[in-house]
Amino acid sequence: MNIILLGPPGAGKGTQAARLELHRGMVQLSTGDMLRQAVAQGTPVGLQAKAVMEAGELVSDAIVSALIGERLDPLGDKGAIFDGYPRTRAQAEALDLLLSERGRKLDYVIELEVDEEALVERITGRFSCGKCGAPYHDQFKLPKVDETCDVCGAHEFKRRPDDNQKTVRTRLAEYRAKTAPILPYYQERDLVRPIDGMAPVDAVALAIDAILDGAA
Ligand code: ADP
Ligand code: AMP
Repeated sequence: MNIILLGPPGAGKGTQAARLELHRGMVQLSTGDMLRQAVAQGTPVGLQAKAVMEAGELVSDAIVSALIGERLDPLGDKGAIFDGYPRTRAQAEALDLLLSERGRKLDYVIELEVDEEALVERITGRFSCGKCGAPYHDQFKLPKVDETCDVCGAHEFKRRPDDNQKTVRTRLAEYRAKTAPILPYYQERDLVRPIDGMAPVDAVALAIDAILDGAA
């Protein structure tokens, strides 16, 4: 099964993708994570992307679609969870081509419906494990044991440089202008399944499970 998790920054895509990896053996393909890795390693892609990401704008379609293409080949028979990709109509079309070239198809586009104002709070409170990347939040999801990752036990956490008030506004505007308009592209094919992304994490997970199990 191959699915897209679609929703604005902070909607909970990464949180749900991590859970799907754990429970269903699917693989999260997050272009944001790939780009952050490229920036950290100082690769040519990273050097090009750094300032764009810090401003909260979109990196070029060609770069992100190439990153996705590279990650699809080693998947074998595992399902893909596209997280943060596609973000434009051109990327949606590129993804169709990348999938069909590999004999894959999209099963669902799960749309996380959220209230924009709540997203600012979600994003500015977001942090993650410095070792395994498990996602946390200052208010909504603190580690069970103080300063210890629930998943791997590490004690170091990190915050993203673009998770600040100013950049968040630009990222939300980019979503509204360029990403939300790709929904009809998938609605025409009856692939979109909207769910309430404002519900607690476990309730969102149950709603996704119901869709993937064909019960919704
Ligand atoms: P995205 O990948 O869509 O940008 P994340 O999964 O990183 O979003 O979630 C953003 C922040 O909101 C994280 O700190 C996460 O812990 C928190 N979060 C995710 N889902 C929920 C939810 N359903 N309710 C409350 N907080 C959530
Ligand atoms: P994310 O981790 O999905 O919030 O992405 C962080 C930043 O990486 C975005 O604000 C963009 O600058 C860039 N980015 C990630 N995915 C894409 C994409 N599919 N297209 C363009 N830019 C992207």
